[in-house]
Amino acid sequence: MRASRRLGQNFLTDEEIAHRQVSLAEPLGDDVVLEIGPGLGVLTAPLLERSRELVAIEKDRRLGAFLKDRFPDLDLIVGDALKVDIPPFQKVVSNLPFEISSPITFRLLDLGFQKGVLMYQKEFAERLVSREGQKAYSKLSVVVSYRADARIVETVPKDRFFPVPKVDSAIVEIVPRDPPFRVESEDHFLKLVDALFKHRRKKMGNSVLLHWQDLFETEDEARSYLRDAEWSDERVERMSPAQIARISNGIITKG
Ligand code: SAM
Repeated sequence: MRASRRLGQNFLTDEEIAHRQVSLAEPLGDDVVLEIGPGLGVLTAPLLERSRELVAIEKDRRLGAFLKDRFPDLDLIVGDALKVDIPPFQKVVSNLPFEISSPITFRLLDLGFQKGVLMYQKEFAERLVSREGQKAYSKLSVVVSYRADARIVETVPKDRFFPVPKVDSAIVEIVPRDPPFRVESEDHFLKLVDALFKHRRKKMGNSVLLHWQDLFETEDEARSYLRDAEWSDERVERMSPAQIARISNGIITKG
């Protein structure tokens, strides 16, 4: 069977790594565990051994048939993980298809869970966990840090996959939690984050002015607000998520 590049099919060949991933999600107790993209089952096998209930979602029908054959008792949904109904789960352990890294991460966060052990491309993982002042600090870092604690546990060299992908991977542990700072309007906060990181090297006042329609009622209002805002000449690379939230709250309350 040929691996599909479109479906991000790079299969993990190192079973020890798969076992370590499952250990990171333990104790599993009575948890329902979700696996996105089980592929040939390198993670599915230890997950089935060590969990009471596993739900797996695989988009590729050929792999669906293979998995049914290999694991007759597996609760398998053959479909697109971005579209199918996902039943409640507490843990998610997956080597994700890289094409859907961002939308699937936000879908999982929206659904809610206790702990995720997720493999991403290394560069994406770095953007996901970075803090202000770090090279990979991004919109993704801010939005995820609002909703979860995330850390890279281990990087995985590309030669542990077949076919060998172009880049290395990394295992990320994600633990959702309540937001650590207050946001008046999530919509405004996300629009501000978006505007600021679209032009990460510009002064923040200039970035905001370019997107005044998303953030203010009128351009004049934006200009006069920015004149007095002490953050206008700063750059977003050094602003913590909490500071960005305070700026959004200030614009909304005109404080
Ligand atoms: N878990 C396996 C492993 O570690 O070897 C396979 C990982 S491979 C990186 C990604 C898997 O996700 C493939 O099996 C692919 O067919 C599947 N996949 C791709 N897009 C998907 C989607 N939208 N929904 C569900 N599965 C998907």
